[in-house]
Amino acid sequence: MPALAIVLIVVAVLLLAGAGLVAGSRSARRRGSARSLTARPGAVEAAPAESSFAPEVGEQAGAAGIAAAPAPPGAATLEAAPGAPALRERLGRARALIGGYLDGIRGRGVDDATLEQLEEALILADVGITTTTRVLDDLRSQVRSGEIERTPEALLAALRAGLEALFEGDSPDLRHGEGEGPTVWLFVGVNGVGKTTTIGKVAARERAAGERVVMAAGDTFRAAAGEQLETWAERASATIIRGSEGADPSSVIFDAVQHAAARGASLVLADTAGRLHTKVNLMEELRKVRRVAERPPGQLTEVLLVIDATTGQNGLVQARQFTEAVGVTGIVLTKLDGTAKGGVVLAIRSELGLPIKLVGVGESVEDLVEFDAKEFVDALFA
Ligand code: GDP
Repeated sequence: MPALAIVLIVVAVLLLAGAGLVAGSRSARRRGSARSLTARPGAVEAAPAESSFAPEVGEQAGAAGIAAAPAPPGAATLEAAPGAPALRERLGRARALIGGYLDGIRGRGVDDATLEQLEEALILADVGITTTTRVLDDLRSQVRSGEIERTPEALLAALRAGLEALFEGDSPDLRHGEGEGPTVWLFVGVNGVGKTTTIGKVAARERAAGERVVMAAGDTFRAAAGEQLETWAERASATIIRGSEGADPSSVIFDAVQHAAARGASLVLADTAGRLHTKVNLMEELRKVRRVAERPPGQLTEVLLVIDATTGQNGLVQARQFTEAVGVTGIVLTKLDGTAKGGVVLAIRSELGLPIKLVGVGESVEDLVEFDAKEFVDALFA
């Protein structure tokens, strides 16, 4: 029957394409992992608890009020295998602004006004005065010494190379511990920047790469944060450890690490609060969370500061404060889909030496891209 045969061929092609997508997952390839994508049962749900758990007393795992619950329905399927959309394709707004400025200098001679125009474009894209001045001073001296030709093309190529060079030697890879015990990645940042969303996206990515993921709902200050993380955990088939509202966040992280170690999970993704009664309280709390996360069997390898690209230069201030308080190892820049102000990462890299690891370009699970300096600078110049 020809109609039936056509249907069977279409189904077979779709199945093959699906298998190819999963096998081609970028993260899995990166680690050469052939591990199964099948979800494990055993998602853990919040239970009411009064936690007065002091993390210094090591034997009290479970005191944050944690109860096992059956895996949620549908947990065995990853909702979406995270793809890797090119950064360039996702930076429409940033491109519009800087690209527009650069168009203005094409097709004319190079003089002081041209350099000033470049300076203005970078400042408007939130690269910041210090970094812009540094890059432009370098460019001016190259023009003066004759190292670069006095043509707009040569000038733009040199500017591009100068910006790319700011990220030299960086890798977007997130490090895994090499010893025994689960790797811990801590996510910090002020309220609303996208920490919880990023953890959800990273969990899906790491699950697809074969990691066994436990999420720690360390933002006990905001009731909705735990629920939000739970939704992401269900999507990614990850286990979640929650404490009661107002519970000591370090006890939640402690329990998550213990839980991961006991069940042989490889990775703990720890959410933290972004707002407390005062900034001093927040930083104190984060220091404590960090101390607990570092304690064996946990292996803390990344402290990722999440920054909202739409906050512009304020991101640099946050990066400085969090670095002083908890020792940030890398930056996740979110909401780059909605702003032309992503240039703040150039300032953060150049002034604080922090590598940019990931970029959020939307609210869905697949809207997470590894930072690529060349693509990023290309997108600014497109
Ligand atoms: P948290 O308070 O730092 O945990 O922030 P949330 O994860 O709750 O995110 C705050 C809001 O930002 C939510 O509405 C998210 O959907 C949204 N969001 C997070 N990341 C991105 C992104 O990359 N792009 C866009 N457009 N929205 C994002």
